[in-house]
Amino acid sequence: MFLFNPKNYQPTHPDDHTNGMLKAVTAWFEAKGLESIKKDWHEKTWNHDFVEFMKSQQVLATLMTPEGYGENAAWNTLRNVEFAEIAAFYGITYWYTFQVSMLGLGPIFNGDNEKVKKRAAKLLKEGAVFAFGLSEQDHGADIYSSSMQLIPQSDGTYLARGSKYYIGNGNEAALVSTFGRNSETGDYVFFVVDSKHEKYECVKNTVNAQNYVAEYRLHDYPIGEDDILSVGRKAWDDMLNTINYCKFNLGFGSIGLCTHALYESINHAANRTLYGKQVTEFPQVKRLFTDAYCRLAAMKLFSYRAADYLRCASGEDRRYLLFNPIVKMKVTMEGEKVIAELWDVIAAKGFEAEPFFEIAAVEIVSLPKLEGTAHVNMALIVKFMKNYLFAPVDYPEIPHRTDQADDTFLFHQGPTHGLGEIHFHDYKLTYSQFDLPNIEVFKAQIEGFRKLLITAGPDEIQVRDIDYMLSMGELFTLIVYGHLVLEKALMEDTDTDLLNQVFDVFVRDFSLYATGLHGKPGNTDAQRTLIRELIQAPVANPEQFDKVWLQNVYALNGQYELAD
Ligand SMILES: Cc1cc2nc3c(=O)[nH]c(=O)nc-3n(C[C@H](O)[C@H](O)[C@H](O)COP(=O)(O)OP(=O)(O)OC[C@H]3O[C@@H](n4cnc5c(N)ncnc54)[C@H](O)[C@@H]3O)c2cc1C
Repeated sequence: MFLFNPKNYQPTHPDDHTNGMLKAVTAWFEAKGLESIKKDWHEKTWNHDFVEFMKSQQVLATLMTPEGYGENAAWNTLRNVEFAEIAAFYGITYWYTFQVSMLGLGPIFNGDNEKVKKRAAKLLKEGAVFAFGLSEQDHGADIYSSSMQLIPQSDGTYLARGSKYYIGNGNEAALVSTFGRNSETGDYVFFVVDSKHEKYECVKNTVNAQNYVAEYRLHDYPIGEDDILSVGRKAWDDMLNTINYCKFNLGFGSIGLCTHALYESINHAANRTLYGKQVTEFPQVKRLFTDAYCRLAAMKLFSYRAADYLRCASGEDRRYLLFNPIVKMKVTMEGEKVIAELWDVIAAKGFEAEPFFEIAAVEIVSLPKLEGTAHVNMALIVKFMKNYLFAPVDYPEIPHRTDQADDTFLFHQGPTHGLGEIHFHDYKLTYSQFDLPNIEVFKAQIEGFRKLLITAGPDEIQVRDIDYMLSMGELFTLIVYGHLVLEKALMEDTDTDLLNQVFDVFVRDFSLYATGLHGKPGNTDAQRTLIRELIQAPVANPEQFDKVWLQNVYALNGQYELAD
């Protein structure tokens, strides 16, 4: 598995246009340089220059025009996530403009209104950005309580009245997909507004940051049938279905930030001398770096494998509904740990004004909190636990998807309910193809977890206690995480020393999560006994650790630096 490095980046998509575009994006950032990126970030300058560049290269039009709405158009998840990783490598603001544009386009291309789809495709060509107006100040995650109103008028039109909060691109978006309710019927409704319309007030940027995360108000904004995207159950499903595939990009944003921070950190530490020794000679520094690298490797292996499942999703194969929230929740939280580990090494350097690291340190924490908090996603994940662990079924093999096909299913995901009916392929078939020492320990931990569930599983009170289930969910998530990491490792023939080291981290993390569960007040004695069995140590192998440290991690010294 290779980390993104702009110096030797060679995209391998089947078409020259995509490869040329992704290289041009990278070249634009490299030419902009670190000093300019940091200046804009410090001065909280919105990324107009990047939006202009994207227009000149038709970047968003290429990435986000689905088949049927432009020449050679295709919505290709692999291409999109690769772009997300590259954009975030240079800063979350660039990623966020793309991300909220995708969120804004989701309800349009999921919706029923052909006219708006064509309007959006035209605007994409013209270089527009988009926005997704779901959140409201008073309601947070409780989207059932949306108070934006669409008020029917006697001539069959509507007036939109209400406000939205935390809406990215709300300052500039050509179309803002807005979620609300019909004031008479109470039906949910998605409609579009233009941020430049006189009845649209962009009140303020709710955050003191480079991203524009708007509060906007609609003051009896006139809405016709041509502006309505979907109504009733369909509007609700389109909202959740949009988030289903957009939240996926959060993990790739995290990978981009962490990769850049890792290059900078190793360059700094490997070239700093204290007491006559390199900082990288401290044993704890080697461990922190190696753990951070292993976490990042796993983030990348899992997320890119999950992309295959998203691209192959269908009405009969909805496994992506487990893998996507894990990319969103787990990968972004792993990103936080990577930055924390690197920061422990580079210490004061992480606060300095000039390096990129400061951006990563500040922005990394936002990713688990966007598009549903980590808790909301974990509450989703635990719904799959029973079928995943105890009722596997056969599926056709999911290949590595590098083709250009349009991921049409994303716009036809259908009703969002029925999660408990989704089954998974047998994780044991993948784990059993490995006999590395730490994977063996991890397999025993999985068996211990199954034993806990079978013999002393959570009772009704514990199942209703979200705090308890979130803790249990951490253990379950790590099992699924390891599963797809190994699937991708098999496909890429990942170095077994590195894999064993990745599972060294997983074994310790599993033990840590078990300790958390052990401390929950409602446990019975039987549960505590079984949970204690989950706490295991990895198999020590200092030579292997040194090899991974030197060949994978220390070897990054001097490999990349963003010039001023
Ligand atoms: C920088 C930024 C950009 C954003 N961009 C957009 C955007 O473009 N468009 C948009 O519509 N929104 C956007 N948001 C809003 C974002 O999606 C919300 O912040 C998020 O949905 C959570 O809402 P909240 O922060 O108000 O938390 P709250 O809903 O107030 O949550 C409070 C606590 O309750 C917990 N909780 C809530 N529900 C559950 C549940 N069901 N189960 C368990 N625990 C629960 C949460 O985990 C949290 O700990 C953005 C937010 C930020 C900060």
